[in-house]
Amino acid sequence: PAKALPPQIRRLDEAVVNRIAAGEVIQRPASALKELLENSIDAGSSSIAITVKEGGLKLIQIADNGHGIRYEDLPILCERHTTSKLKEFEDLQTINTLGFRGEALASMTFVAHLTVTTMTADQNHGYRASYKDGVMEGEPRPCAAVKGTQIMVENLFYNVAARRKAFKNPAEEYGRILDVVSKFSIHKNEVSFLCKKHGDSRADVHTMASTTRLDAIRAVYGPGVARELIEVSASDDDPLRAEFEMKGFITSANYSAKKTTFVLFINDRLVECSALRKAIEVVYAAILPKASKPFVYMSICLPSEHVDVNVHPTKKEVSFLNQEALVDSIQKAVEAKLMTSNTSRTFYTQT
Ligand code: ADP
Ligand code: MG
Repeated sequence: PAKALPPQIRRLDEAVVNRIAAGEVIQRPASALKELLENSIDAGSSSIAITVKEGGLKLIQIADNGHGIRYEDLPILCERHTTSKLKEFEDLQTINTLGFRGEALASMTFVAHLTVTTMTADQNHGYRASYKDGVMEGEPRPCAAVKGTQIMVENLFYNVAARRKAFKNPAEEYGRILDVVSKFSIHKNEVSFLCKKHGDSRADVHTMASTTRLDAIRAVYGPGVARELIEVSASDDDPLRAEFEMKGFITSANYSAKKTTFVLFINDRLVECSALRKAIEVVYAAILPKASKPFVYMSICLPSEHVDVNVHPTKKEVSFLNQEALVDSIQKAVEAKLMTSNTSRTFYTQT
């Protein structure tokens, strides 16, 4: 029998490559929103307002009062791998901005239509430019603006039929967007956040700049959570174990929700860490009735040279040294805190 030849290897069109890569960074409306939010924070904004249509599939609009974008940078703004944040690979080690790859805006232009309006402190009017497939369409047009940047992402996944179909429920996608905004708004409590549906007068998340973290949690997650919060902290400076500092708020044994809310920032990045989440759930499982779940907010600071931020396309995970030791000592701190707060409560009710 004639031996069939192996399939031929071909080089993909650049447009195909870009759309595939974009799908990895921008998985759903909430991942686009997270990237936009991170850019606004990196730009030093103290106020960020978001408007959403159809769960972000029709429109995500974000307006900030950050440093804006230089006029001469507008032509390359949405090309792949253009960034103001990283120069050398080694910079990744000490990077203190949330972005670093210069891929987010580019990715969005491969799967949506993007319009940017921006004004820097030294300009007296702004510029508006539209982008598609990494390229600026025409010249930036002068326009009235305020200092900062406004970005509109329209018709997300208009050219990715399969992905578009996967999002049948805009309400669920809006829920995921609110989740991201809520988490950032309690971590960055010095920044004012607003998030609402287009056309609604009522905001679904609204925090004021420079409130305390506790006030921000109350504003976003409600007084029922805030009332039961206990402050928790842990740290270790022994280089042989895990060097870290953790500060957080956790609900007491009197609080119970149907679902765990676990808000984790490591070196100011919103991330997930299933090992830590499980370790904390175990502690609560021992003190709460079976169906009751806690609210947990934690901010962990690690030496930046112990953290690899570049392990996930959406940056939702980081890897770090001595994870086991760190999880262990945070678990112990949470356990101790819950125990003492429990006994003091018993004490109060008895007297
Ligand atoms: P990265 O954040 O990794 O640099 P992005 O594609 O997200 O990549 O953004 C590209 C560049 O565009 C950023 O480095 C920044 O200089 C600029 N930029 C994006 N969003 C904003 C914004 N809201 N305000 C000011 N500059 C911005
Ligand atoms: Mg970015």
